[in-house]
Formats: sequence, structure tokens, C-alpha cells
Amino acid sequence: MKKLMVSITLLFCMVLFTKARTVKVVTTTTDMKSISEAIGGDKVSVLSIATGYQNPHFVDPKPSYIISLSNADLFVTVGLDLETGWSPQLLSSSRNAKIQKGSPGYVDASVGVGLYQVPSAANRGEGDIHIYGNPHYWLDPLNGKVIARNIANGLERVDPQNQAFYETNLHQFFNQVDAKLKEWQAKMFPYKGTKIIAYHNEWVYFEKRFGLEIVDFMEPKPGIPPSPSQLVKVINEVQANHIKIIISSPYFTTSSSDVVAKQTGVKELTMATSVGAFPSIKTYFDLFDYDVDHLTDVLKQ
Ligand SMILES: [Zn+2]
Repeated sequence: MKKLMVSITLLFCMVLFTKARTVKVVTTTTDMKSISEAIGGDKVSVLSIATGYQNPHFVDPKPSYIISLSNADLFVTVGLDLETGWSPQLLSSSRNAKIQKGSPGYVDASVGVGLYQVPSAANRGEGDIHIYGNPHYWLDPLNGKVIARNIANGLERVDPQNQAFYETNLHQFFNQVDAKLKEWQAKMFPYKGTKIIAYHNEWVYFEKRFGLEIVDFMEPKPGIPPSPSQLVKVINEVQANHIKIIISSPYFTTSSSDVVAKQTGVKELTMATSVGAFPSIKTYFDLFDYDVDHLTDVLKQ
């Protein structure tokens, strides 16, 4: 009996030990979570603060997130201006020195991304929320590789003994991106140069990668809701360019696009901007599968 108790205690300690060795990762968004899981495998446990159907610019900083951050080994942020309204205050409230900006456990996933729409001067004057360049860069699958490299670097800083494991997963991820990208580009190829309207300016990386042409946005400026004059402008553009589609995201209302659709016959499509936007989108690869399939379905009509 005593022997059994000793073995049970030993087993319990081993379980605790193994658990303690898991790297606790907190990401701001689900896309960062999915890529962290791809690189970290069973060596990590990952929690995302935002859901995939939430506007990543505006997330409620709930106290429960502070608790998760205070226990984290690694923090992954999309960076630029995306989470400015909520993540810096959560991070400082966590009082976790390991994951503050500049610490080994802090990963800015945007490092090394070739940014679009970088303004000559950062200016929040007119309510603009893209003041360091367009922060929606994960919507180009090739930028997924840059994100993955940054996350792997972070994991290797906080858990160096598993470096080889992370590097193997990273290269597997790279290969998967390359293979899937060929497939997505082949599906999108017939629609090269297609003119579209988007609700928020969050598709530029997707647009350039897949050869679309975004003519205008429902929002007159990123973060500024559609105005009557913007609607008139968009209606004229839709008619002049024979535009077939307005794309939007799950967290925007369709009331203004509905007005344009009623006037012009343009189709509306809610695309996914993040993993988890719709229940079927469980990984970073599912995200592009979903968007490419739904977009081409409408464009082929
Ligand atoms: Zn934005």
C-alpha cells in the first residue's frame, strides 16, 4: 500500500512537472494563436484574448485577461496600431516583467513585414486608426511566414532547449504555406484585376497577393463609420466600374452596404478576417480556404 502511494505521488509529481514545462502563450488575436500552436505543438498552451469574430481594433479589456497575462511566458501581438486601444493597458496591468515590450517573452509579430500604406507622418488627428501603416498584414499568407518566424524566435528565447523542435515545425509551416498558396492563387487567377469595394481598409495585403483591385471603402477613413456622402460616392463608383461585390467582416453592420446593394444590385459578402470568424475556420489555413472559396463562388456567378 505504501509502495502504491509512493508511485502515485511520483506520478502526480511527474504530471505537475510536465505541465509546468509547457510554455504559456497569450496572443492578442486568434490568428497569432493558430500560428503559435503550429510552431509550438504540444510544448505550448495558447490563449487568445480576442475572438475571431470581434473587431481587433476594439476589444473590451476584461480583468480575466490580466490574470492570464500575469501567468504567461510569451505574449504575441500583431503590433502597429491594431491593438493600441486595449492591449498595452492589459500588459502593464499584468505586472509580468517577462512579457513586457523589450523582454524576451514579448513578440511583435509585425517585425520584418513589408508594410503597405505607411503614412509619412503618424497622425491620429482625424480619428484614423492605421497611423503606422496598414496593420491587417496577416491576411497575406506569405506574411504568415514572417509571423511564424517571429513566434519561433520568441519560443526559442523562452524555451531554448526545444529550439530544434520549433525549427522543424517552422519549416513544416513554411512548406504548408507555399503549397496552399499555389492552390489559392490558382483559384483566384481567373479573377485577376477584379474591382471590389470593402467595408474597412483591412484587405490590402489580401488584395495585392491575389490580384484584386479595391476601389473604395464604406468607411471614409479607417474607424470612421460610413457617412451619407461616402455612400453616394460608393454608389457612383459601383455603377461606373460595374463592381459586383462589397466585402465586409463579421463585426460590421450591413445597413450601409444594404443601401448600396439596393441602389446598384451589387452583392454583399461577409468574409473572414481571422481564425474563428465562422465555426468552420479552425486554423490559419482554414481562413484562406474559407475566403478564397466564398469569394470565388460569388465572382463566378
Ligand atoms: Zn484596421
